[in-house]
Amino acid sequence: MSSIENLEPFNAYSLVNGQWRSTTNTTEVLNPATGATVAQVAAQGAELAVEAVEAARAALPSWSKTSAMERSQYLERISQLLLEQIDGLALVLTTEQGKPLAEAREEIEYAASYFAWYAGEALRAYGRLVPAGAENQRVMVRKCPVGVVTAITPWNFPCALLARKLAPALAAGCTFVAKPALETPLTALALGAITRQAGIPPGVVNIVVGADSQAIGEVLTQHPAVAKFTFTGSTAIGTQLLAQCAAGVKRTSLELGGNAPFLVFEDANLEAAVDGLMAAKFRNAGQTCVSPNRILLHQDIAAPFLALLRERMAALQMGDGEDPSTQLGPLIHAQAVVRIQQLVAAAVAAGAKVETFDQAVPGPAFAPPQLVTNINPEMDLFQQEIFGPVVAVMTFSDETNAVQLANATPYGLAAYAYTQNLQRCWRLYEDLTVGMLGLNQGRISSAMAPFGGVKASGFGREGGPEGIEEYLSTHYLAWGDCT
Ligand code: NAP
Repeated sequence: MSSIENLEPFNAYSLVNGQWRSTTNTTEVLNPATGATVAQVAAQGAELAVEAVEAARAALPSWSKTSAMERSQYLERISQLLLEQIDGLALVLTTEQGKPLAEAREEIEYAASYFAWYAGEALRAYGRLVPAGAENQRVMVRKCPVGVVTAITPWNFPCALLARKLAPALAAGCTFVAKPALETPLTALALGAITRQAGIPPGVVNIVVGADSQAIGEVLTQHPAVAKFTFTGSTAIGTQLLAQCAAGVKRTSLELGGNAPFLVFEDANLEAAVDGLMAAKFRNAGQTCVSPNRILLHQDIAAPFLALLRERMAALQMGDGEDPSTQLGPLIHAQAVVRIQQLVAAAVAAGAKVETFDQAVPGPAFAPPQLVTNINPEMDLFQQEIFGPVVAVMTFSDETNAVQLANATPYGLAAYAYTQNLQRCWRLYEDLTVGMLGLNQGRISSAMAPFGGVKASGFGREGGPEGIEEYLSTHYLAWGDCT
């Protein structure tokens, strides 16, 4: 752990106005692989959230006036520091979240890429000069930071999902208050420490760790100084927070749950499709919002596809994420395993068939890979986000049937399709009601692209030029004749 010993979060537990703040009220962070206590963090309440929002409000006038070049340099520095400290950060992430170390390193690199990308976008928040409709008139448009931004983030990508909000907010000139999930506060605090190392002034970045998410959430959605609220998490909690924001007419963006269909057509390269499915499905043990949830196979290729898939699933190495040979770590906690077992058991009771790729289960938070065939749209396994290493499969007869099944849930985050038919590729891009489509590829996220969903998966985009627009407001000037 030597490289992380310098990171202050291991001694002090919320970052407000540049200070590490503690209380006597603590809560344990557990390692999901071993059940061991990783840290005791101070569980703050609504009062510290209010202080944090007020610190962000106080820091806003000077931060929003820094030059775009200066903000760009800060962001570049954060990106570099993340990469320089990747070994220690990845270990913290694996210890509190459970994912294999190689995936934790990927997540830190991915987070760093957002700071690097928005270091560039900070320089490109252009306004425009518009030809006016009348003589002696000038029309001008400029982009301004929205103001104080508040954020609530989940445990599955504790570094990257915070970075996707923080980087564009800072680039735009906003100040920021975040509440990370209680399961994984340490990575968020480490990112907070890195913003200090990068020289970000006090009050610009604040991180409040608390056990009473309801009370803290009320402050972050309702405090009059908050201009914009951004959330990543479940659709149920996101809906509640959206209602809370409505009273104050806060700008809002929501990255919510997914239920991605993964379509394999009769003309697909089956090896490539299985590769894509393994990469997308088993990353973070299936606990990703873009994880393929419903595997829809053309009836003519289902048998050979499943034969290839079984071989790959049987070879997965399950274990503690700190072991370099581990490919499949634990779920976030034992209750998550129970929830998945219940989903699978209900599907089996309704006629599905399950194959478990058993191996020694190292602890109560581990779930073995399972293949469930013969599912149907009436099952919860089809309608709900599984969030675990369960591959749920059904077959389709033709493209119309496949698209209708793919669109048959309230969600619309991501979809994947494997086919070599170019005309079909275009049709799928137009007909699948999702924010993101992976065509012949299982990895779809990148800092350059607008990540986000439609329907019950939320609204707003993270990444790409669209990502910074979420933190900018448009102001226009009509300038008359001054003679
Ligand atoms: P969650 O239960 O909605 O929790 C997310 C965050 O909300 C946590 O920080 C949690 O804090 C907080 N929270 C819970 N109840 C709250 C309340 N009443 N008021 C204010 N804050 C509250 O979701 P999760 O189980 O952690 O995460 C998994 C979900 O996130 C999945 O549905 C997944 O699809 C979604 N997700 C979406 C994306 C995307 O980009 N679309 C990305 C990743 C994950 P505490 O933990 O402290 O209670």
